[in-house]
Amino acid sequence: MSPVPPLDPCDFTVFGGTGDLALRKLLPALYHRDRDGQLADGTRIIGVSRAEVDDDGYRDEVRAALTTFIEAGDWDEAVVDRLLGRLHHVTLDALDPADWPRLHDRLKDGAASDAVVRVFYLAVAPALFGEICQHLEETGLVDERARVVLEKPIGSDLASARAINDAVGRVFDEQQIFRIDHYLGKESVQNLLVTRFANIFLEPLMNSHWVDHVQITVAESLGVGERGGYYDHAGALRDMVQNHLLQLLCLVAMEPPAYVDRETVRDEKLKVLQALRPMTPACVDRDTVAGQYDAGLVDGAAVPSYAEDLGHPGSTTETFVALKTEVQNWRWAGVPFYLRTGKRMDRRVSEIIVVFKDPPHAMFPHSEGSTEANRLHIRVQPDEGMQLHFTAKEPGPGGIRLRPVSLDLNYADTFGRPSPDAYERLLMDVVRGNPTLFMRRDEVEAAWAWVEPILARWTQTPHRPRRYPAGTAGPTAAATLLERDGRSWQENDT
Ligand code: NAP
Repeated sequence: MSPVPPLDPCDFTVFGGTGDLALRKLLPALYHRDRDGQLADGTRIIGVSRAEVDDDGYRDEVRAALTTFIEAGDWDEAVVDRLLGRLHHVTLDALDPADWPRLHDRLKDGAASDAVVRVFYLAVAPALFGEICQHLEETGLVDERARVVLEKPIGSDLASARAINDAVGRVFDEQQIFRIDHYLGKESVQNLLVTRFANIFLEPLMNSHWVDHVQITVAESLGVGERGGYYDHAGALRDMVQNHLLQLLCLVAMEPPAYVDRETVRDEKLKVLQALRPMTPACVDRDTVAGQYDAGLVDGAAVPSYAEDLGHPGSTTETFVALKTEVQNWRWAGVPFYLRTGKRMDRRVSEIIVVFKDPPHAMFPHSEGSTEANRLHIRVQPDEGMQLHFTAKEPGPGGIRLRPVSLDLNYADTFGRPSPDAYERLLMDVVRGNPTLFMRRDEVEAAWAWVEPILARWTQTPHRPRRYPAGTAGPTAAATLLERDGRSWQENDT
């Protein structure tokens, strides 16, 4: 493993430091980076919340969380102690101006240097983003080395996204704003760019001449769990499609930039979003499917319906979306991109499957066996990796017998270790000041602009999501979306 040089000392302030995201994802990610020596001496982590808890109380809370979320084999008591030693807690109601001097005093008192990088990670409801940024500025905590990290959801439509971006943008320059889509921190997602653009064999095929269609699936077997309150106002389109699925689509479809820097990749992704076929009302009716899970069986266990999970019937929020779109440019015109995402599905998987066309001429018409379309299958999670499916001759005498086979790249096996969590990479990029893997304002707004007509159409028409039993692949209409084009979802394509 290559050595990881420490980054500049940093004051890493997490608004929402006692929340689920901080305890389950951010602090474990910082633990792993600290273990690898990436947090410089003098780096501090300051949790902010309204809880009346002192530094020691917060350290106890974080230790308990680390015990839960760090694998036993990764546990290093000395690193835990070092990380806990970096921790502080500031009790502060972000909405109460009287509380803010506490944060100011804590950050000014004992900072490693005046030039320390200040990260403000907003792991709180987006309704607080604007006000927190304003107070940060008024409290004198924003300078050119300050960065703000915004968690999703950035708005619930284009207007609210713009309002958040305006409010944050009044205080921070765009290059200081890091909008997280944790999918972009996943190794397999970054490797998609490397596979496409650091190799010669694939890229000449990635266009409408050779690609039949592309499928992107992000399926969860879990239900809404504790997030029902938020989720019922969001739904799968806002929660997943507007960000994660469209970002994956961008990386599959984008043109190669001349070089990789903080803007070029994002410029190319933006062009993809701007080239998506607009969702007219007729397109929405024809090319989108909304679903909601019913009671069913997941991994052999009975699970309740969405309405039961939520605690009240009658919700028309979709827990499943399937849709068909097209990137209307020279490279991709005519190639359908099918996207689907859902909760309580039959498996947990995030994957991109590029399905190639059949060979132009069947040279082995009298052969036995079977053939399948060539496919490039990128597994984002679990078991990050990549498979190339093609046809081979089955060994043996007596004529040619064809068999579908696959070349399988499993990251953990190939590189001898599991991939780090996406947050590890992204948090260090924030400290480094590298926004390449973060969403720029124009990307977020372009994604909302594309999604919004779907939301609008669904509210204009009597919209009831189609029911699907938990533990299945979604409503049958999602299968029909492809079947009417003579295609089908590639289920369990391993
Ligand atoms: P959570 O568990 O409810 O935690 C919210 C945190 O914010 C708590 O620490 C809470 O502490 C603090 N907080 C709330 N109001 C505050 C105020 N006025 N001033 C200061 N602190 C305040 O929520 P979460 O799951 O961590 O999610 C946080 C945000 O990240 C949400 O917008 C969520 O949509 C987003 N997100 C979460 C996840 C995830 O996996 N959890 C993933 C992606 C995005 P006090 O109540 O003690 O103040």
